[in-house]
Amino acid sequence: MDTFAYQRPGTVREALRLIAAHPDVEIIAGGTDLVTLLRDRVRTPARLVDINGLPLDGLRWSRDGVRIGALCRNAVDDERLAAAYPALVRALRAGASPQIRNRATFGGNLLQGVRCPYFRLPEFACNRREPGAGCAAIDGDGRLHAIFGTSEACIAVHPSDCAVALLALDATVVVEGARGTRLIPVGDLHRLPGETPHEEHTLRDGELIVAVDLPASPFAARSTYVKFRERASYAFALASAAVAVHSERGVVRQARVCLGGVAPKPWRAYAVESALRGRRLDEVTIAAAAEAATEGARPRPDNAYKVELVRGVVRRALTELRDK
Ligand code: SF4
Repeated sequence: MDTFAYQRPGTVREALRLIAAHPDVEIIAGGTDLVTLLRDRVRTPARLVDINGLPLDGLRWSRDGVRIGALCRNAVDDERLAAAYPALVRALRAGASPQIRNRATFGGNLLQGVRCPYFRLPEFACNRREPGAGCAAIDGDGRLHAIFGTSEACIAVHPSDCAVALLALDATVVVEGARGTRLIPVGDLHRLPGETPHEEHTLRDGELIVAVDLPASPFAARSTYVKFRERASYAFALASAAVAVHSERGVVRQARVCLGGVAPKPWRAYAVESALRGRRLDEVTIAAAAEAATEGARPRPDNAYKVELVRGVVRRALTELRDK
């Protein structure tokens, strides 16, 4: 591991000043991802700003929903949160072991690095790690890679379970920067790779995630998260679905369907939502919705199996909500 300067500010203002003052800086909170990247020399910052001393923990409930502090740990165990936003709590529990979740934070979870093995091994070419270097995955092992939203420059999948659930629940990311507070819909936080996969998110230089807002919505309480992974113990998603449905007199009025493990950012499946709206949540509708979930998929020979997984996660999530 290379040497770096270390600072631990006590206020958000001080943290913003330190982040703005040094271009080659990384922010550390739980460190569950960053420490690995430092150890493997994927990231080599000159300075670490440790934000664990900032007052950004806890849940704040209001009539409009709940604000989750950016330093809230992913092991958050709150009955009210589980009842109001079951998809989120299920995604968190599916995300990692209790040990990891006791360290990992909400803010860090959203900004974790992709799990593409070539990204994490500096001896391989990677456009995300080094712009213009090439992409070793394209002619390599793409079994775990994306089937939606890819480009010629990058085919990695976004790794967060939590972000998929937050997208289905219409969450907003609250950021602070030199120019004040900014609210970013979680669906606008991550970028598709295009020709610049190293530009992973839409945060401006010097900005810090301070919270995530979850609105009170008619469909949040009837939501779920289903994840398929390679083994029964913790692993990143091969495919996952966060689904939320609001029905009146048995007819779906609103739905949110978001996919994980299959795209470079949490993937909103608008075609599935259309297939559900105005329909009864019966076998025929669920089958049509599962088929619609594959619309626009562009699999490679070694990850074509994910198309069937996508049908499966959507079918399973909707069946669970039908019976709820
Ligand atoms: Fe890098 Fe993306 Fe290619 Fe993986 S898929 S090697 S992250 S450019």
